[in-house]
Amino acid sequence: MKIGVIGTGYVGLVQGVILAQFGLNVICVDNNEEKIKNLNNGIVPIYEPGLEDLMVKNIQEKRIEFTTDIKKAVLESEVLFIAVGTPPADDGSADLRYVLEVANSIGEYMEDSKVVVNKSTVPVGTGHLVRETIQNKLNQREKKLDFDVVSNPEFLREGKAVNDCLRPDRVIIGTESKKAEEMMKKVYNVLYINETPFVFTNIETAEMIKYASNAFLAVKISFINEMALLAEKVGADIQKIAKAMGQDGRISPKFLHAGPGYGGSCFPKDTKAIAEIGKKNNEELLVIEAAIKANKKQKQKMIEKVTTNMGNIEGKVIAVLGLSFKPETDDMRDAPALDIIKGLIKNGAKIKTYCPQGMKESKWRLEEYKESIEYSENEYKAVTGADATVIVTEWNQFRGMNLRKMKELMKDNYLFDLRNIHGKNPEVRSLFKYYAVGRK
Ligand code: NAD
Repeated sequence: MKIGVIGTGYVGLVQGVILAQFGLNVICVDNNEEKIKNLNNGIVPIYEPGLEDLMVKNIQEKRIEFTTDIKKAVLESEVLFIAVGTPPADDGSADLRYVLEVANSIGEYMEDSKVVVNKSTVPVGTGHLVRETIQNKLNQREKKLDFDVVSNPEFLREGKAVNDCLRPDRVIIGTESKKAEEMMKKVYNVLYINETPFVFTNIETAEMIKYASNAFLAVKISFINEMALLAEKVGADIQKIAKAMGQDGRISPKFLHAGPGYGGSCFPKDTKAIAEIGKKNNEELLVIEAAIKANKKQKQKMIEKVTTNMGNIEGKVIAVLGLSFKPETDDMRDAPALDIIKGLIKNGAKIKTYCPQGMKESKWRLEEYKESIEYSENEYKAVTGADATVIVTEWNQFRGMNLRKMKELMKDNYLFDLRNIHGKNPEVRSLFKYYAVGRK
């Protein structure tokens, strides 16, 4: 069976490689020529641990190929995955232009029956819009061809994407067609026979499962962050609170880490998108809207943590460690570090920064602040001469830093540990004016 994957970003590329690894023949398409050129040379354009080796292996075994030619992919594939971006439009709703562009191309080029699988995160109703778009194109071409639409949302976590796709917690298949359902069982045969839980449902439910899951996780993070703000005021310790809460099986310890607020390419945009879907359907989603508001406040609170504890930061040098929205990724979309850096610069600070993977992406995203930002070669160079260090992302190498050396290199000794990674080190409070999140 040949599979076409359209859109070779964080989701499409990983999905394509994993399907090839499952033994299927995969053709990956992207309209970004440079990306395809790199992929054909065995270069992965994103940082995702474990992906490059698996990709190169499958290229060598001739199970995966990369092209900008969508027509070729449509003609050759039985199953076509849509994995293009759905960025937020101005009102927060998901911008479907790329998804519909692909649907249009499928309708334009298909010559036999297809199963069209939507992997992008899309508002409820998009599956039917995709169907309508393909059908309209077929009508224009006066072609009578059979096709099915499936919603198969993705739940991978960047940084752990390969493992998440090899061993997903569950696979969601939303379709009204029995034939398409059987086809999807074949696509995911390796998982299906391996007792991975499958949920078969209608398209609307599948589409909503994705938003409901992401919104729930965002609410959980905002909740613990709000508890952290209160804990600081009343002298409680959020890490102990979170640990004890997590020991309750009904709550679970995951996503209960207080920090600078959620970021990344999914939670911020998906919470806003589902809130918009709520409004359009006359059902205000109060809990989700509160989580969005709380997240904005949390990032502001992190800036205030620095300014209130240091006093005037005009002209001070602040080292920011970690830029990507979480460790083990280069993804800077909606990363809290961006807002925190902008806030510190607006208060007069100069920034020195280091991130193992996020610096290239940060440079263009922070272009207008470039006079106030110096990018360093490593974490020790970044803290050299700094009045304060702010740890924004918990890369392992920041956990393992030599704190004595760090203090010696710094000019003053403020340490703002926004991920609470050094709180348990008995030395930290004697070496630094140490500020964590949600504890004294
Ligand atoms: P991305 O921006 O990394 O990748 C999208 C790719 O699609 C880009 O390479 C782009 O060039 C390509 N593209 C756009 N229009 C195209 C077209 N007409 N033809 C061919 N290629 C085209 O996005 P992503 O992070 O992979 O996300 C894709 C979707 O998956 C989004 O809806 C997102 O919400 C969802 N999702 C993302 C994640 C994640 O962690 N990144 C997880 C789950 C779901």
